[in-house]
Amino acid sequence: MKIKVVVALIACSSMLFSCQSKEEDSTDSLVPNIEQEVVVEVEEPNHDTQQLDELLAELKMKKELDVSDYENRTPMEWGENVQGVKTQLDTDEQVIALTFDACGGPYGSLYDEELIDFLRKESIPATLFVNQRWIEENEVTFSELVEEPLFEIQNHGSEHVPLSVSGQSAWGIEGTQSAEQIVHEVIENQMTITSFTNEEPLFFRSGTAFYDEIAVEIVKELGLEVVNFNILGDAGATYSAEQVHDALLSSVSGSIVLLHMNQPNSGTAEGVERAVMDLKDQGFSFVTLSQYTLK
Ligand SMILES: [Zn+2]
Repeated sequence: MKIKVVVALIACSSMLFSCQSKEEDSTDSLVPNIEQEVVVEVEEPNHDTQQLDELLAELKMKKELDVSDYENRTPMEWGENVQGVKTQLDTDEQVIALTFDACGGPYGSLYDEELIDFLRKESIPATLFVNQRWIEENEVTFSELVEEPLFEIQNHGSEHVPLSVSGQSAWGIEGTQSAEQIVHEVIENQMTITSFTNEEPLFFRSGTAFYDEIAVEIVKELGLEVVNFNILGDAGATYSAEQVHDALLSSVSGSIVLLHMNQPNSGTAEGVERAVMDLKDQGFSFVTLSQYTLK
């Protein structure tokens, strides 16, 4: 659709000039207002933008979730494998889901380019759990990862804290203090990721991967599944390449492996490269989480 509009163009320099010469009104006449007829293309309504606006509006509503029922309850469990947390793909097929966390923060905002380049080169699908702080530090890289069809982007929290209704800690990191803070931890990053991907993440993994079972229920009510792992792939990127390799080789059909893509100085990339080749030789292939039901 084409329409004609008349645009008045006023050069910046002339605006400045007239501002600086307030006492000499006559100088304004030295500066002609340029009127120009311009034909502009007006695009059809953009459905992507419309859909994104709707998604973000829905997420904004979720921020106001009534959490009073959760606040009256006392959690019974605290850990990585509490009730409701998914740890495996529900399949007998010889497939493995590699998941890579990008944790963000002062010590966690780097990017393991070697690792990601390897996955691309070998066409290995992977699920990336990305924290909001990492996105803020790596916006250009994140925009590129979002465009890569091999990868799906999932939610690794806003502040990267354990998910607790009562302020429990894990690995020295203090968790959320209330149901309300849990909603914030999930939804803030959910909105950030959605604004890049135009679709809502389906899965959530907290910073430290710790939860109480009430927190897991809240995440579910917000529309996401909590997903951890049954193979600890790099132990917070502290493993040597050899240890990463050996951990991955202990995978079984439907394993979900926890690894990191934010520690390029670790043994993760080399360990993954070697393990992927060996696992392929054994007949395994690699999939993303959303391709399977989880258990
Ligand atoms: Zn993390």
